[in-house]
Amino acid sequence: MSVQKGSVFLFSGPSGSGKDTILKQVFARMPELKFSISSTTRARRDPSDDEKYTFLTKEEFETGIAQNGFLEYARYCDNYYGTPAAPIEAWRNQGFDVVIECEVQGALQIMEKLPELTSIFIIPPSVEILRKRLTGRRTESAEQTEKRIQTAIGEMKQADRYEYLVINDHLEDAVDLVCNIIEAQRAKVSQNTKFLSEVLQHA
Ligand code: 5GP
Repeated sequence: MSVQKGSVFLFSGPSGSGKDTILKQVFARMPELKFSISSTTRARRDPSDDEKYTFLTKEEFETGIAQNGFLEYARYCDNYYGTPAAPIEAWRNQGFDVVIECEVQGALQIMEKLPELTSIFIIPPSVEILRKRLTGRRTESAEQTEKRIQTAIGEMKQADRYEYLVINDHLEDAVDLVCNIIEAQRAKVSQNTKFLSEVLQHA
């Protein structure tokens, strides 16, 4: 049977929304998903960052921009972040579903380029909880933390540009909901046209 093109799941949510923790658990349950490794010029905060990012200098990143290497890119908290274009198309053509994690400016660019994607915004249950989570991080200066909080509030104001809202109050519930959204997308008739025509060929 020929391969049905994979779907794209676009996740945004302010830092402190718990998006990374949710995605880690989603990948544990659905290891067949492919994660789009972003490029960034920000400094490594933690060794596990290497699972999420390729770290580039500003010059390397700007060369990538000039060569049209990014599906989207944005400046966020004084650094570049971008989604390399090539792996996504290759995975989708092999039938894999791809997860992209991206802040809002970049997400809006991807929504324009790939209108068929499924977009999900992850939000903390309150600004107080967001503030507590970001202050507890202690890997950044107070000034950097305050900047992230203000950026986060600005991002939350744009949650209405997304298709789904996942409130991260109870982690397990949020992970269940994200998995259900992925399953629902996979069950769409538009994602199963090749299977349907194969079945009907033998009718
Ligand atoms: P952090 O520095 O906390 O890892 O990420 C900061 C923000 O950049 C987060 O909102 C994260 O979703 C976003 N981000 C991560 N990868 C990309 C990317 O490839 N493109 C864009 N535009 N944002 C990204």
